[in-house]
Amino acid sequence: MQLKIYNSLSGEKEIFHPIHDNSVGMYVCGPTVYSNVHLGNVRTFMSFDFIYRTLMFLGYKVRYVRNITDAGHLTDDGNVDNDRFVKQSRLEKLEPMEVVQKYTVDFHKVLDLFNLLPPNIEPTATGHILEQIELTKQLIEKGFAYESNGSVYFDVLEYNRRGLNYGELSRRNIEELFANTRDLDGQGEKKNPQDFALWKKASPAHIMRWNSPWGEGFPGWHIECTAMSTKYLGEKFDIHGGGMDLKFPHHECEVAQGKACNGTEPVNYWMHANMLTMNGQRMSKSTGNYILPMELVTGDNDFFEKAFDPSVVRFCFMQAHYRSVLDISNDAMLAAEKGFTRLMDAVQLLESDKIVGSTVSSIEVDGWQQRCTDALLDDFNSPILIAHLFEAVKWIYLLAEKKETVSADDLQKLKRSMHDYVFEVLGLKKTERANDDKLDQTLQILIDLRNQARQARNFELSDQIRDRLKAEGIELKDGKEGTGYSLS
Ligand code: AMP
Ligand code: ZN
Repeated sequence: MQLKIYNSLSGEKEIFHPIHDNSVGMYVCGPTVYSNVHLGNVRTFMSFDFIYRTLMFLGYKVRYVRNITDAGHLTDDGNVDNDRFVKQSRLEKLEPMEVVQKYTVDFHKVLDLFNLLPPNIEPTATGHILEQIELTKQLIEKGFAYESNGSVYFDVLEYNRRGLNYGELSRRNIEELFANTRDLDGQGEKKNPQDFALWKKASPAHIMRWNSPWGEGFPGWHIECTAMSTKYLGEKFDIHGGGMDLKFPHHECEVAQGKACNGTEPVNYWMHANMLTMNGQRMSKSTGNYILPMELVTGDNDFFEKAFDPSVVRFCFMQAHYRSVLDISNDAMLAAEKGFTRLMDAVQLLESDKIVGSTVSSIEVDGWQQRCTDALLDDFNSPILIAHLFEAVKWIYLLAEKKETVSADDLQKLKRSMHDYVFEVLGLKKTERANDDKLDQTLQILIDLRNQARQARNFELSDQIRDRLKAEGIELKDGKEGTGYSLS
């Protein structure tokens, strides 16, 4: 088994070698919890959920850390008075930590809706202020950072003077960067416009503030991720992920902080998930081109003609490779719904008694299984995996019509693998309709057993089945056509 991962640092697909045997340390930048996550944010978190699930399916023991940014992420103009949390708390007339709590709860609810697994550790920036101060102190001691008017900045030119190459992840050239930057943030405080804040002095109006060796202030956004990833995964770890738009400056700054502090690349494999667009334009709060996840699921929006089940949304996202742009539109969702239904119907048919094992197989299950796993090993290729699952869907219908045969062994393998790929790896869930069908099948089994008990004159058992179902709100009704049921 050889897993290949596209590494943004090298710009190539590389064979994955974890640092410790079979264990993987993975850090993914979490949400900034000052407003509701939109569907674009969900796509990035889902991409990494799929990667996490795949790593576990391939047998790795994963420590997955995804943070919550609940302090220090300034608005794009970098103005200290435009701290996102402080701004939102004024708007909503809430304490900043009430804003944080409100949107953290929303974030978890949304991810749960789309069946994302929780990470192993979910640290918050405000819970790691001491670690961030400690790192900032170290960077000053090593000569990579300087204090200026109560704030501390990372010295990008000094970093480059020591041959450490700022810009290596985003492949930006430092001269170009200097030429293209307007010094809006920290005017007059920085030695160079590209220097970024490790610690910011709080203005009198700034409510979220902590004590530090440099006076009262709050940490920069980039240092937060370095502090938390180092604390839980070590100075050097396997995988760091996030959306494509975080590559610069956020991840570039993380690389710089890690190398400056510890003298080594902090991350072996940098992974970047591509963007969700809607009607051809990137989904983003600031342009207004966005939809909230709940609006898509309830149908309460102006973009889509109907409501879509969360699993249909998940299926739609999984049909695109995590490194490709995905455009979501009404037609794309309708097509995904069709595909998802066909897949789920086949899974249900495979689990039913319409397909039974015979002595030989006319289909080649081992080869198919291998192709599915190969798709996963090739940089987590979910669309190719789905294409292979549809090969199996074709077989399933042919098996039900007795036009193909499958041995009992191969049937078990096919069932197991379909289950693993569909539910464990892709993280799809049966919809309400599928659950209703399952309940119906289960009740038919109980009705059959009750009839058999009655025929055998075992009235004690037949009554027990009827009474226990009734106690659960399911009433059996005997009629001329047989036994039916109603649910209360
Ligand atoms: P934020 O809360 O703004 O830090 O964003 C959380 C995550 O969502 C980051 O990894 C972003 O890269 C990602 N993200 C933002 N917009 C989109 C989009 N349109 N499509 C996919 N991911 C996005
Ligand atoms: Zn981060």
